[in-house]
Order: sequence, then C-alpha cells, then structure tokens
Amino acid sequence: MKYIVLLGDGMADHPLDACGGRTAIEAARTPNMDRIAALGCSGLFCPVPEGMPPGSDVGNLSVFGYDPRKVFSGRAAIEAANQGIALAEDEVAFRCNLVSLDHGTMKDFTSGHITTEEARLLVESLNEALADRFPIRLYTGVSYRHTGVIKATAAASVDQMVATECEPPHNITGQACAPYLPKGPAAGLLRDLMDASVPVLRDHPVNLKRIEAGKLPATSLWPWGQGRALTLESYRDRFGLSGAVISAVDLVKGIGVCAGLEVINVPGATGWIDTDYEGKVAAGLDALARHDFLYLHVEAPDEAAHQGSVELKVQAIEQFDARIVGPFLEYLNTHPDTRLLATPDHFTLISTKTHAGGPVPFAMCGAGVEQDSSTRYGERDARASDILITDGYLLTHRFIKDNPLPLAALRGE
Ligand SMILES: [Zn+2]
Repeated sequence: MKYIVLLGDGMADHPLDACGGRTAIEAARTPNMDRIAALGCSGLFCPVPEGMPPGSDVGNLSVFGYDPRKVFSGRAAIEAANQGIALAEDEVAFRCNLVSLDHGTMKDFTSGHITTEEARLLVESLNEALADRFPIRLYTGVSYRHTGVIKATAAASVDQMVATECEPPHNITGQACAPYLPKGPAAGLLRDLMDASVPVLRDHPVNLKRIEAGKLPATSLWPWGQGRALTLESYRDRFGLSGAVISAVDLVKGIGVCAGLEVINVPGATGWIDTDYEGKVAAGLDALARHDFLYLHVEAPDEAAHQGSVELKVQAIEQFDARIVGPFLEYLNTHPDTRLLATPDHFTLISTKTHAGGPVPFAMCGAGVEQDSSTRYGERDARASDILITDGYLLTHRFIKDNPLPLAALRGE
C-alpha cells in the first residue's frame, strides 16, 4: 500500500464576512478535495494539542503521526536538523535572527532581508568575537535566519535554557523591545549574548556598506524558538515504511530528516503561491515509485493568510486543489492500493493574520477507507460528520496502520 499526505499549510479558517459567512476553504473551488471526501470520509482533528503553541512545527509533527507533547521542545532544533547540525544532549539550539533595532524598537526582524552572503560574514565575526565569552556556536542559515547552538554550563542548564521565555521577533515589529527581552532562568545569559553582539555588528564593514546603500543594518542577534534535539522514532521503525518529504519549508524538511525520510528539494519550490506545483508533483510521483509514503507540503495558503488577503488565500487553496491534489487523485485511478489524506496543520486566520489551535478539517480516501456521507471538503461539512480526533497524531496512525479503516476507528470507538 502507498500512503500520500497532502498538506495545505494553514488552510483552515473561521467564517469570513468577505466570503459571505463561509471560510476560505468553503469559498474556494475545490473539486478534488470534495471528491476525496465523497469517495472516503472527512472529519475534524486537533493537530495542535491543547496548551501548545499553534505553530507549523507542532501541527506538522502531529500530521506526521508523532505526539508533539512527547517529542517537541522548540522549532530551532528542527531547523538545526535540516541544516545537518547534530545536537548533543547538553546542547540547545536557538533560532538566532539578525535583527535591525532602532533606538530600542524592533525596526525589522529581517534586517531588510539581508543577503545570505552578507549574513555569513557577520556570523563569522560574531563567532570570533563571542567564542571566548559564551558557550555558543553560530551557523549561517538563509538571509536573516541563523542557528545558535549553546552548550549547557553551570550558569544555564539545558532545562533552564528550554524553560526561558523568548519572544519571536516577528511578533513585535515596530514595538519597544525592552518588555520582550528573554525572561526566566537563562535570561541573563541570553541578554548578555544579545548585548555582546551589538558592538561586533555596529561598525562591521558589511553594515557600513548597507547603510551607505540606504539599506537597514543588522544591529543585534535575537535568540528564540529554542529546543533540545528532536529525537523521533524513524518511519521505518514506527510504521514499517520508507518515505519522502517535499516542502519549501525548513521546519517540515527538518521533521523529515528526524523521521528518517528522504527529503527531496524541488528547485522551484518557493513557499509562495508561485511555487513550482508541477515540479513538486513530478518529484512526488517519482518518490512514490521508490517509497511507500509521501508527505507533500504547500506553504502558500498560510502565507496568504498571514498577509490578511482573502483573495490570495482562496486562490492558494484553489491552486493546491487543482495542481497538487488533482494529480494525486488521478494517481489513485491507476494505483488503487493507495490512500490519500488532504489536510491543513492548523488554522491561519485571515482576521488576525496569525495561527490558531482547534480542530481542523481533513479528508481521506483510498484502499480500505470506509465511506461516510460527506460530499464536500470544508470546516462545516467536517463538523457535520461525527469524527473528532482530539489526539491529532492518531489521525495519521489510523490512516497508516488500520486496514481496513472503518469510520468507527476514526471516531475512537
Ligand atoms: Zn503551518
């Protein structure tokens, strides 16, 4: 049997006035996801466990079939895995943004989308300057997004670092930073580190050149999103499957690395509505020839919702349905021993331009999946079914492990 998971990031939403009281999924033309619901079933599940942050890291871990409550401590460890950085047990990974502060306010959490080449030079200088005073090693990522690995010391243990409250810098654009500096057991270390980065960056030739060119300088490191190593049971051990992941997003690829899946990079995958859908489909079909399991992730609906654009979100969902879901539904015609699951990983609300937890709709069909009375895919239709999986990671468990897969199993009966 082949298993295909198609993930439309942040597709789920609340009813919108701009859509005549419908959600973005309900307003979008989605004949293929409707068809999945009609051929099989649809229902609700909670990818984000109660009390956990509704991020793509937590949501996707659930959809991959891992319980985030057991395995997740922070996104930076997942990004580190994707960068090939191995974390020791006494180390914690932090996302370290290069941010642009102006008189103590968060001017730009991207430092004017600084280039990776420029950032690499800044990170080199920071490593040289900070190595003697801090147990940190910085790794250059892409643009403003870098990773810092901090070794535990008497001053800050792994638990203390993980328990420290660090504000994501994209949440405080234009605001005074002082109330959002690290708080908690390792706050002293992290604040010292941020302070120490400032003079290194201030007169750096890269920044002087940027200022001269009218661009924003990178003025400080901003650590956040920390976590200890993400240790996942491999897909082979957990489900007896080999598999592949296709995504433009580091977090999703990082989970794939940790799960022992093949991570396939599609050159035109952008994470935006202009992504190379056909390239992703071709790579996915190719992967299915070698593997039992495929996880194909599309970021665009989430990005559109972050921009607060209903039109773009609806368009992104329609593109996902037509250009990703459609071809895999066709694959089912020629490969009947296959199951297909289409789902988001969390809500991304147009109204707040941000993520939210709560039960989101899924649809699945294929070999051995019992049919319910669903005819369409959407929040309301999923709610009308009586499937609600509160331990969200169990959705994929049942999808993969139960054969046949009766509705009663999805209802937890
Ligand atoms: Zn997401």
